Amino acid sequence: MEKSKEEIIEEMQKVVAQMVIDDLEDNPDCANEFFECDCCGKNKCLAGSIQYEDYRLCNDCVLLAETGFALGKFTKIQPLIDAMEDSRLEEACNFIKDEEARKQKLDENLN
Ligand SMILES: [Zn+2]
Repeated sequence: MEKSKEEIIEEMQKVVAQMVIDDLEDNPDCANEFFECDCCGKNKCLAGSIQYEDYRLCNDCVLLAETGFALGKFTKIQPLIDAMEDSRLEEACNFIKDEEARKQKLDENLN
């Protein structure tokens, strides 16, 4: 019997959550190791991350990727990276805004 979309998503959530547990069991230190996810652009924990081709994805993005693969939305990681480009830009904008706010505060303190 074909699995429903909901069943596939639920299954993937379990599989991907298990990856974090396995990684932490293999290497407890990776709980304190962080990297910049190539997909969402956020600074994420190394535990549960996966390398796909040239990209390293955080656990949240792995869930998106694996669910997308399972549902046949895409077969390679590139379309997901492209789709995430907008939110990556947003992330970059937030960083710049924070930086500007910080500078402004600094200026205020100096004057
Ligand atoms: Zn990510």
